[in-house]
Amino acid sequence: MADFLLPSHPIVRPDKDRFLNEENPFEAMMVRFDRAAELLDLEPGLYKVLRNPEKQIIVSVPVMMDNGEVEVFTGIRVLHNTSRGPAKGGIRFDMNVSLDEVKALAAWMTWKCAVVNIPFGGAKGGVICDPLKMSIGEMERVTRRYTAAIIQTLGPDSDVPAPDVNTNERVMAWLMDTYSMHVGHTVNAVTTGKPVEMGGSLGRREATGRGCMMVTRDALAHLKMPMKGATVAVQGFGNVGSIAAQLLQAEGCKVVAISDRTGGYVHRKGIDVEHAIAWITEHKTLEGYTVGEPISNENLLLLDVDVLLPAALENVITTKNAAKIRAKIICEGANGPTTAGADSILDDKGIFVIPDILANAGGVTVSYFEWVQNRGGYYWTEQVVNERLGEIMVNSFAAVLKLSLQHKVNMRTAAYMLAISRVSIVHRLRGIYA
Ligand code: NAD
Repeated sequence: MADFLLPSHPIVRPDKDRFLNEENPFEAMMVRFDRAAELLDLEPGLYKVLRNPEKQIIVSVPVMMDNGEVEVFTGIRVLHNTSRGPAKGGIRFDMNVSLDEVKALAAWMTWKCAVVNIPFGGAKGGVICDPLKMSIGEMERVTRRYTAAIIQTLGPDSDVPAPDVNTNERVMAWLMDTYSMHVGHTVNAVTTGKPVEMGGSLGRREATGRGCMMVTRDALAHLKMPMKGATVAVQGFGNVGSIAAQLLQAEGCKVVAISDRTGGYVHRKGIDVEHAIAWITEHKTLEGYTVGEPISNENLLLLDVDVLLPAALENVITTKNAAKIRAKIICEGANGPTTAGADSILDDKGIFVIPDILANAGGVTVSYFEWVQNRGGYYWTEQVVNERLGEIMVNSFAAVLKLSLQHKVNMRTAAYMLAISRVSIVHRLRGIYA
């Protein structure tokens, strides 16, 4: 059996010294991967395997638009690593989708699933399109044709998508239906994030925000900071941000600032999160919110708070603003909100960062529960889902913290070390086929 303990020459990193683009997500991921791989003294062969995605698929997606003309979109699906189980990862519809971005997000999914120790590998997909300019019918046709184009990779045992930017339960329902029509029977475990009526899990919608609340609670306890009265600023009051804010408030925290794409509001006495959610339900955005003082998204990040929760976009904490951040804890609800260059600046300031691959892993954890429920054909109560989510998030936080203290590294490096070592063990056991 071939194994990975092969060459003794040093790790080859063809791009290690080239200029790094701070905002390229693939490079941001690779810098963190390299750091952890070095600390783990990863064998060169295995290093090369984990650095490269297993499969990269690019497809043309021809679609009849409502005006009768045919448009051809580009669709991408990347499977980064499937050693631990079926590939898992969302599908986004966005003009900014690129192969580099999808590769990075796919690798992040490998590490995220390994951090929380669920039996999935990592994948991601996307279609380069502008859903804001598309009708529901056009969205459906894009979804169905993209699904048909990548159907060979999809399946409950091979590749299980989920919603991501600009895709939702509805899109997952079309994907599941298209797949099921092709194979000739209903296969609801081919995707997660489905409507509850057709096999979606209770608690999935709240899972990422709930996970953020749980790890923030653990971080506060670790730092011996009381939860009651801890001040919180949330950038991005969408699914993740609003639920996390709501649950943190329920645990006694004081949410002092919230924002969305239209801007933010700060209120030192505390924002009533339920009221803000009701405002969003009525007005769609926070624009014109009547509580507190307006604040820009840039300045919200610099507020003097106990907990900063970036839950909107990538690359908002960079080398340009990291030195000015005053929060004591950063809980990364979004994927990739901090650039690799900003990591060391935050470390120097003693800021405790709960990295994205741990902080927002509650979503994929309940997606895993959804897949399990679909395959077992037996559905759990919301209470059971939340209890099992709690167990996984608490154990994962503790495992990452332990490694971080043991190796005197920050939580991000520790999370990568934990993930890479879990994936590596399986590779060593499986060996290289042929
Ligand atoms: P969402 O669309 O529900 O919410 C996004 C929020 O960010 C909205 O309030 C939007 O107005 C705001 N926003 C957009 N552009 C902004 C800008 N320029 N400045 C400030 N705010 C802006 O999305 P979501 O599902 O809450 O996802 C948020 C982040 O969390 C993304 O990075 C996503 O990849 C990540 N994430 C989500 C899940 C999940 O289960 N939803 C799981 C893991 C990670």
